[in-house]
Amino acid sequence: MKIACVELGVSFCLFLLGLFFPVSEIRPLFILFSYLFVGLGVLKEAVQNLFKGKIFDENFLMTVATIGAFCIGEYPEAAAIMLFYRLGELFQDLAVSKSKNSIKALMELKPDKAFLLEDGKMKEVSPLQVQVGDIIVIKPGEKVPLDGKIIEGSTYLNTVNLTGESTPLEVSKGDTVLSGVVNLEEVIQVRVTRAYQESTVQKILELVEHANSKKSTSETFIRKFSRYYTPIVVGSAFLLAVLPPLILNQAFSPWIYRALSFLVVSCPCALVISVPLSFFGGIGAASRMGVLIKGSNALEDIHKVSTVVFDKTGTLTEGVFEVQKINAIGIPEEELLKIAAYAEVFSNHPIAKSLRKAYGEKIDEKYVKELKQYPGMGLKVLVDGKVVLIGNRALMEENHITFVEEGDKGTILYLAIDEEYRGNIVIADRIKKDAKEAVNSLRKLGVEHIVVLTGDKEEITSSICQELGIHTYYASLLPNEKVEKVEILRQKKKEDEKILFAGDGMNDAPVLALSDIGVAMGAIGSDAALESADIVIMTDEPSKIANVIKLSRKTLTIVKENVIFALGVKLIILVASAFGLTTMWFSVFGDVGVTILAVLNALRTMRMKW
Ligand code: ADP
Ligand code: MG
Repeated sequence: MKIACVELGVSFCLFLLGLFFPVSEIRPLFILFSYLFVGLGVLKEAVQNLFKGKIFDENFLMTVATIGAFCIGEYPEAAAIMLFYRLGELFQDLAVSKSKNSIKALMELKPDKAFLLEDGKMKEVSPLQVQVGDIIVIKPGEKVPLDGKIIEGSTYLNTVNLTGESTPLEVSKGDTVLSGVVNLEEVIQVRVTRAYQESTVQKILELVEHANSKKSTSETFIRKFSRYYTPIVVGSAFLLAVLPPLILNQAFSPWIYRALSFLVVSCPCALVISVPLSFFGGIGAASRMGVLIKGSNALEDIHKVSTVVFDKTGTLTEGVFEVQKINAIGIPEEELLKIAAYAEVFSNHPIAKSLRKAYGEKIDEKYVKELKQYPGMGLKVLVDGKVVLIGNRALMEENHITFVEEGDKGTILYLAIDEEYRGNIVIADRIKKDAKEAVNSLRKLGVEHIVVLTGDKEEITSSICQELGIHTYYASLLPNEKVEKVEILRQKKKEDEKILFAGDGMNDAPVLALSDIGVAMGAIGSDAALESADIVIMTDEPSKIANVIKLSRKTLTIVKENVIFALGVKLIILVASAFGLTTMWFSVFGDVGVTILAVLNALRTMRMKW
């Protein structure tokens, strides 16, 4: 970029000499040098692209227009077109790299070192060298380099890079820490649970890097458009240069001049650059708020959402269950809770986390062997040689356990040990603070259908939905039944409407992948969700869905403004130049000026706030 600036500067000086040098005979020579200095690259590229079969790109247009101008003796115009064209390009590069940086800012989180603890001594290594099971030390003010569990110490973490959430997070022994967050207060020791390649930071970085490859329909449209548009313009320009002089029996040069102006103004760079840049800016704005959008198609599609489907646990509710009651049969209550906590030791489900927390003591994994997961139902686990079943009614029925049904208000986990029913644990969840706001603001934005799908039982679901003002819900669903429900909703909606599914990634990765737009929430810990979702909300706030819809609408407004503005101005200048009413300088404005204005407008997306 620096080189481009120097080139432009030198060329501009040569250009001035070409206009004002006292000895007028050598002026054209300066102009020629000025032209070649900035234009040689463009000429080369045009020729190269010609051989690659990519005719009719911007380079080609500029080459033909400027060489043509030289041929009819309009030297200053020729050099100026090239100068301004390169200036416009430089400007585009700046804009693109600026918007990339705004996303990369999020990526500041990339850690460069880790302090490995070996035989009581600390050693600085690259995060790549650390293996699962190693212990690392993280000092205050340092970035957490790898995902792991705290084994010593407690501290506050700044997770703003990852979640957009600025309140420090308190963590202590046993808690999970994710790479990319910053340790604020005390030294902690962490046992690494994931290698660097699989770490949260690495996953997010990959996402952002690939975000560019998923093009929106507007972008593809512009692409296709210029493929047809440019040849048409070149053809028309040729006819304009040749036909009128032949028919009207006039001199060629004024018509060639008009045709060349025509060529310059027709360059579609304003659109080719500003449309993707707008989406890129929108994605950047979202990322600063803790929302990852995996490609401009998702950002564009979300404004067409007519149906929002919510998963319940962990999405509308906190997913932090508190144990309300333990009903043990022929076994002490503490023993039942202990077995439950042991049984859930390998599970990431919010229920599992809550049970382990309620138990509170250290769990020795070596007594536990997982036998089978029943998604949406529960687990079958071997705990200290005994077969433990833990889950909902359906799980008991599936395994032919005779059990007593409870009428309690909360979520009920039934337990069977060695095929004998041993009681249940009643746990209760809380509705998220902003769940109500999430529903209301979606309604305000005109989202017609709001639906809840859950694996939890009917009673709880209905009371939660009532509180939130949601009228449609389906309870006691298995993951595959959630998929079926979404399929049915898809058939009901109109052609260009979209269905959005928001879930926490536990047991709902298939629906996330299947819905038009999958939104994973609070899911930075869950790989499945990160991979199958289109949008990842890194905080736990469902209300951000409405914000992304607003962001999408704003982005599209800016895109439309640019398309209308650019095509409008170009059309006027095109017609005017065909009739010889303008000079080539107008065309230069119609190309470079319009591009710069469109780019500036596109950059507004980067500054969007909720
Ligand atoms: P939701 O659709 O509300 O997010 P899930 O599909 O994750 O719920 O789970 C549905 C039900 O299956 C839970 O309410 C619970 O009864 C049972 N369940 C799922 N996973 C587990 C687990 N790890 N331990 C015990 N029960 C579970
Ligand atoms: Mg769930």
